[in-house]
Amino acid sequence: MLAAMPPESPKRPQPGEGHIRKRPSGRVRDRGDACPGALKLHRADDGALARLRLPTGVLTERQIRVLADAADRLGDGRLSLTSRGNLELRGLGEGCGLGLAELLREAGLLPASEAHERIRNMVVSPLAGPGVQAAARELDALLCARAWTTGLSGRFLFAVDDGRGDVAALGADVTLLAAEDDGFLLAAAGRVYRIAGPDAPAAALAAARAFLSAAETAGTGAWRIAELPRAGREMDVTGQLARAGVAAAPAPVPPTRSCAPPPPGLLAGGFVSVLARLGRVTSDQLRALLPAPEIRVTPWRGFVLPGLAGEAARSRLMELAAAGYVTEVHSPWAGVSACTGRPGCAKSLADVRADARPVGGGLPVHWSGCERRCGHPRGDWVDMVATGEGAYRQTVHTRAGGSEVMFHVKHDQKDPGLAPDVSRETVPGPRTRPTSPQQR
Ligand code: SF4
Repeated sequence: MLAAMPPESPKRPQPGEGHIRKRPSGRVRDRGDACPGALKLHRADDGALARLRLPTGVLTERQIRVLADAADRLGDGRLSLTSRGNLELRGLGEGCGLGLAELLREAGLLPASEAHERIRNMVVSPLAGPGVQAAARELDALLCARAWTTGLSGRFLFAVDDGRGDVAALGADVTLLAAEDDGFLLAAAGRVYRIAGPDAPAAALAAARAFLSAAETAGTGAWRIAELPRAGREMDVTGQLARAGVAAAPAPVPPTRSCAPPPPGLLAGGFVSVLARLGRVTSDQLRALLPAPEIRVTPWRGFVLPGLAGEAARSRLMELAAAGYVTEVHSPWAGVSACTGRPGCAKSLADVRADARPVGGGLPVHWSGCERRCGHPRGDWVDMVATGEGAYRQTVHTRAGGSEVMFHVKHDQKDPGLAPDVSRETVPGPRTRPTSPQQR
């Protein structure tokens, strides 16, 4: 659940890591991060893109309406959900940045200081109770109240886990994991501390400060703890906790436990859970979540509605199925995700959203238009990377061995699967095993 200190031995680069290899200058990053934000729009091939951080993942009914209206009036009428539980508006027109900022500010979706807008990166267990949610809100408030936190990159990630281990498994830089005694475990750079509940947000902030201090000393431009020399072993987390006045006792790394995300359907505790097909919703689909006093966005590209039970919950689930959401755990589309691909991303070799289909054989499957594999899942997953128009390399990322296989996507309504690409080489690989396109 929480990562132990990673090994120092060289390892094969994992998907998405290729671009952080050390440069001849010794730096791992030679520029500040260019992550888009709600105020710093990114120019994409399908118009401007705004990424809105949702630090606690919770939206009100009014905020849902504002976002749906903004997508209709300013964008392409849709919103994308990211693997960090953020929302993106795409296809924004030239010069709409000020108008969008005004809408978001009035809806309470932006921090008081613009400089903090992109550093509120946090994932929170979607089924968390009030105590864990309060800790996440307080951590966000602390982040936005300190000037030094603007030195964090837009990639630095906090996780606040309610103890079940779902968001603790998402590879955050700093993790708070609720413990049974109302306290938390703080995990950062391979070290774990036991912290009293009221001190947990300050403890997470202290760990972030320890990272910034270590990053400054290293001078390599690291954006995340894993990019520090020796994966952050030199970070003085203990010292920063003491300077922050936080009592912290070193603790053992807790055992790994099952950390499945909330499945679609009706969940114990009065939750309705749905997934957005390929992580994108129309503005009408967003409005279909209402009425609801609270809507939680998940890092698995879905929504959770709390406070629903019995017949009311069943009927909401049916309405959301009719609106186009994935509402059943056995749906072939549960666990299928795709990057933006063409035409939105200039780097893409294919229209991956049109090509994407369920071929995971029970594992999450992610379709990518290039080797960056934006938004790919963690853990065991099937990796479909475009190598050309309609051609993909399939790799299964598990602890078992195997090989990579090349496929063509068939755009045949009667048989919309994959065809082995005999014109391309099948590559043996030590960390992968092939799946058959029939495994759906
Ligand atoms: S994986 Fe490549 S093609 Fe897909 S969105 Fe990222 S950069 Fe673009």
